[in-house]
Amino acid sequence: MTIEFRKQEEWFSFSDNHGNDIERKTEIRFDPLTGESARLIFDPGLKIQPPDYIEASEKTGGKNCPFCSENLQKLTPLFKSEITKQGRISQGSAVVFPNLFPYSKHNGVVIFSDQHYVRLEEFTIEMIKDAFLAAQTYIQRVAAIDSKAKHASINWNYLPLSGGSILHPHIQVMVSDSPSNYQRLVAEKAHAFQNDTGKEYFTQLSETEKTLEERWIGEVGDIAWIHSFAPKSHNDFLAVFSKSNSIDDVNEQDWIDFSKGLRAIFSTLDEQGFASFNLMVHISSNSELKQPIHVRLIPRLTLGFLNTSDYNFFQALHQEPLSFKLPEEITPIARKHFVKINEKSERR
Ligand SMILES: [Zn+2]
Repeated sequence: MTIEFRKQEEWFSFSDNHGNDIERKTEIRFDPLTGESARLIFDPGLKIQPPDYIEASEKTGGKNCPFCSENLQKLTPLFKSEITKQGRISQGSAVVFPNLFPYSKHNGVVIFSDQHYVRLEEFTIEMIKDAFLAAQTYIQRVAAIDSKAKHASINWNYLPLSGGSILHPHIQVMVSDSPSNYQRLVAEKAHAFQNDTGKEYFTQLSETEKTLEERWIGEVGDIAWIHSFAPKSHNDFLAVFSKSNSIDDVNEQDWIDFSKGLRAIFSTLDEQGFASFNLMVHISSNSELKQPIHVRLIPRLTLGFLNTSDYNFFQALHQEPLSFKLPEEITPIARKHFVKINEKSERR
């Protein structure tokens, strides 16, 4: 096997006030591509309370929201005509316009719909498909005018716990001259993997996980869903677009299939009490690698009644992810929701 799932255990021994022995395990796992470690730590059995934004949505929606339809045309900026003569890119109910506060040389914001607050279970296939198709169009328009900006990604902060500053569902499309740390590391390591093994890493990962079944969730069309071995949080879902190595390869059906899988992931999050997440679509900038597009999604949350952040010194400074959950125990929860998608399509 060319992919190595490496892990090690540490045990901490101490005793309670009555002299009874306590043993606590920390499992350290190493990402099969990057070698970066992640820690599976003792789960104190915390109950996750999903946040409720109904009241906040009433205060921040409609006339108070720059992304709601009554303000969108008046308050959001316009692209230069070389991107689009209309100033904004539209796809169904999705609209793309420039981010007033950009993270890179090209940074579009995609608004999903007219609905200011969309709860996880309310996202439709149409909404998600249109938003990602619109994001794709923007990346293609940028590629046509700027060959230096090679590092493209589509990103989603859903709800404030994930860094989202506006409730109205929106995604961020970045195209930069400079790769992010993740983009740089994945490019370097995938290149090295290919040199060593003669194989493409994400294709190989997908095939290996499908055979092992331990973290294999399922397939919808040409998109495979896996739980990451060394997770970046308490859940870490990885989708591989097995037939799309560049943004030009993705077609409308792929986005429909992606939307179906994503909705099953949303049900998986909801079942565990998670409401907020970060998502990233990674598009390789090196066409020679023939690397499939992949997506990662992790939940974001607060802990306990003090609303303690889920990021502490570990993630913030050591850059070491922590998880209370075992990937192999989350996988069957997600798989159950994927089985439902396939049952639905069989009935048609
Ligand atoms: Zn709004």
